[in-house]
Amino acid sequence: MAAHPITTVLGPRELDGDASVDTHANVDPHVYVDPNVYVDAHAHLWISRVEGGPADAPVLDDAPAIRDELAAFAAAGGRAAIDCQPPGAGRDARRLVWLAEQTGVAVVAATGFHLRRYHAEADSPWTRDADLLVDRFTAELTVGMEDPDGGRLAARAGVVKAAHAGTLGRDGERMLVAAAAAAHAAGALLVIHTERGAGVEGLAALLLEQPLPAASVMLCHVDKRPDARLHAELARAGFLLEYDTFMRPKYAPRDNVWPLLEALLADGHERSIACALDLADHALWRFGGDPVGMAGLPDVVAPELRRRGAGPAQVRRLTGANVVDRLQAAAATAPAATAPAATAPAATGPAATAPAATAPDPRASMARSA
Ligand SMILES: [Zn+2]
Repeated sequence: MAAHPITTVLGPRELDGDASVDTHANVDPHVYVDPNVYVDAHAHLWISRVEGGPADAPVLDDAPAIRDELAAFAAAGGRAAIDCQPPGAGRDARRLVWLAEQTGVAVVAATGFHLRRYHAEADSPWTRDADLLVDRFTAELTVGMEDPDGGRLAARAGVVKAAHAGTLGRDGERMLVAAAAAAHAAGALLVIHTERGAGVEGLAALLLEQPLPAASVMLCHVDKRPDARLHAELARAGFLLEYDTFMRPKYAPRDNVWPLLEALLADGHERSIACALDLADHALWRFGGDPVGMAGLPDVVAPELRRRGAGPAQVRRLTGANVVDRLQAAAATAPAATAPAATAPAATGPAATAPAATAPDPRASMARSA
């Protein structure tokens, strides 16, 4: 089955998603499924200091150390990572391209916005109008990402990041609707930061009114609010739930995320959860002193899932295939996916793995002259 390639910073790339789990594991349980295919659904691979931003914002800018640890992730079976830092909040697209080239990890970059406080007031998306934001996000997804120096790269963003402060003010709503519109137009997954799941009911209600399908939305950090009944409801509505407190003692994972995960699996929601690490803080990396760091999915999460009785296909889904499947499904359901120009580089075959920089993109020249 020809799946839609994932948009990485080095161009479209084929990754095994849920379909491969079904084909290999469920249909014939004796067929060997390589368990070593891990995707960090909510990663932070680079965060520059934001001029005019808050002093307490995380910074992640030790290039050689990040490269080495990402390479170790790749060696342990790490295939891809979604970098969740949006432009204007510390994203550096050139660094992401460099990390992908150096390590072979498929890096999916984000356009979009973070909470208001992470952006410098002078250049904040929160002060722009919705139409402009939709255009800006869509251009980053379909043409190329803005460089911190003001140019535009050939590398495209693959997801839209949005942030929900917990309550829906007029501004918050306008921003979320703009992010959803761009994700829908370009066929991208919408990745939403929540403040420990606060107000996710209102957020879900707003999202369900948008043309973007709920299946194209990943709700992040919701395991910090381990209410299994609420999670089951969100899963039934179609959302992908991102959990990332496995390695954080302060969130008491034994008492919270693990029982939550077991409850959701027992309830049949194995396709609705994506495990992640969210290593925004440099102290969470091995080079910053953590004993596990970026190897958390293969070294801690997967073994613990197995210990708790998850089967190989379930482990595979939770540690990579689910999020890949959602990225692919979002690309396939985009209205633009039927327009020949929009998916020209997505054709299957050898060309699909070529870096975007060398793939002909008729709109790239328009971007440069814009
Ligand atoms: Zn994050």
